[in-house]
Amino acid sequence: MRTLQTSVRASDAIAIGRAFVVRRDSATVEVVCGSEEQEQERFNKALQSSTSQIEKLSEGSDIFAAHLEIVQDEMLRDAVLEYIGSGKGAAEACQAACGDLVAMFEAMDDEYLSARADDIKDIFARIVANLAGGVQNPFEGAKEGDIIVAKELLPSDMALIDLGAIRGFVTALGSSTSHVCIMARNYSLAAVVGLGEAAEQICSGDMVIVDGIEGRVVVNPDDDTMNTYLVRALNLVTLSKEQQAVATQTVEYQGSAVAVVANAGSVEDVVKAIESGADGIGLFRSEFVYLNSTSEPTEQEQYEVYSAAVRACNGKPLTIRTLDIGGDKAVPYLGFEREENPFLGWRAIRVSLDMEQMFCRQLRAILRASAEGDIRIMFPMITTLEELAEAKRAIEKCKADLKTEGVAFNENIKVGVMIETPAAVFIADDLAARCDFFSIGTNDLVQYVMAADRANVKVSHLYNPYSEAVVRAIKMTIDSAEKAGIECSMCGELASDSSATELLLKAGLRKFSVNIGSIAKIKYTISKL
Ligand code: PEP
Ligand code: MG
Repeated sequence: MRTLQTSVRASDAIAIGRAFVVRRDSATVEVVCGSEEQEQERFNKALQSSTSQIEKLSEGSDIFAAHLEIVQDEMLRDAVLEYIGSGKGAAEACQAACGDLVAMFEAMDDEYLSARADDIKDIFARIVANLAGGVQNPFEGAKEGDIIVAKELLPSDMALIDLGAIRGFVTALGSSTSHVCIMARNYSLAAVVGLGEAAEQICSGDMVIVDGIEGRVVVNPDDDTMNTYLVRALNLVTLSKEQQAVATQTVEYQGSAVAVVANAGSVEDVVKAIESGADGIGLFRSEFVYLNSTSEPTEQEQYEVYSAAVRACNGKPLTIRTLDIGGDKAVPYLGFEREENPFLGWRAIRVSLDMEQMFCRQLRAILRASAEGDIRIMFPMITTLEELAEAKRAIEKCKADLKTEGVAFNENIKVGVMIETPAAVFIADDLAARCDFFSIGTNDLVQYVMAADRANVKVSHLYNPYSEAVVRAIKMTIDSAEKAGIECSMCGELASDSSATELLLKAGLRKFSVNIGSIAKIKYTISKL
């Protein structure tokens, strides 16, 4: 028996099964180095094959639709050709260009842009595989109940794995925000990531326990350990069944209804959230529509996404947050400059108000989709009343234009703000008098209240949502909303933490916008109070 441990918190599940080890060492990639022209031709052919493979896969898959945009980007092609021009073979040039692009995205230190880095690795792995003679499905042969073990699992791997059949994942690389963890949480699978070289000790056919809660993998457990885990896994299954039973119900606290809505970043997420029992979508992160594109999405393209999302809500509300981008979340085609203090810089509503035409294209798309369901508009990073007034003026202008054009929209669309800066907390009374709802964004609020970067491990002891200052900021916000008679929800990670549920209910919160995988858990927690 061997126990492998990581400190990464990947998922809330435990699984026991046989390991199916996928080995894809880059050393197995055939390295051929011909003349510059020959290597260019080999690369161009591999790029073409990769593009047509992705094209076929992209129908009905957000992951591959995003890959298609990236693989067709001139920047990718030029980066490889430049390395070939400097004397490298095609495969080596791909690896070098991939390293550059991945480093660029990873340096941005943002959860969503890190996910883009995974997409880049994924696409280059496909091109390199095509250079070596073709892409194979490395998961062929995985049996029902298996645990997939790999150095790394990339977004497109998820589309090849039968998530309904396997029980969990173990990877050497990855963090809690890797795509594999997001999928594990959304599908309630066990996952342990970031094990490092220790993951190499696992062989195909080994019996493994994957404890996602403790970040532990037990390889070939002894009888006592196996029995302990069988009991723990059974308890979790029972708990999960009890939780699932309330997932589609409406829940109450002390006689008043509590809404449990979900956070989503794509139409696929919306479908899954509603299937999982969400009472609506409390945060639709519209930046994905921009990040998944190599140029600004047109009004029509955005409209199609928002319209599909609201139709997937089946009459339940959909809160679309306007573009929250800038600073560290740079979109290359928007021409952002590097900033000294990106979190205190040009981001979110500040960008939208400065880029009036782009803002209007987004608002028009949202307004048009509002004719098809209950859509609400939410502004991120509000710090002054003037920002809210200006953003509302932009909505009014778009409404007037649409009216003139005879285009349908909801005239009474609700408009709200995220409370995620101390400034917004201090002026919450005044903001509440001027909008229809609040949503507390604790992910940012904690870092701004505590002056502790949310991604800096050296100050992670201060990045604490339970800090007295944060708890008071939350309470002040809820009280201001209540006094003004407007709705207040919370869409930061704290809303998905069941140990905070009672505290938040006692503070007066009646709407929780949570991760898709936490819908059942939070509804269950509320139902038990
Ligand atoms: C937040 O800040 O809590 C939030 C939900 O926004 P994001 O995590 O997208 O910055
Ligand atoms: Mg935020």
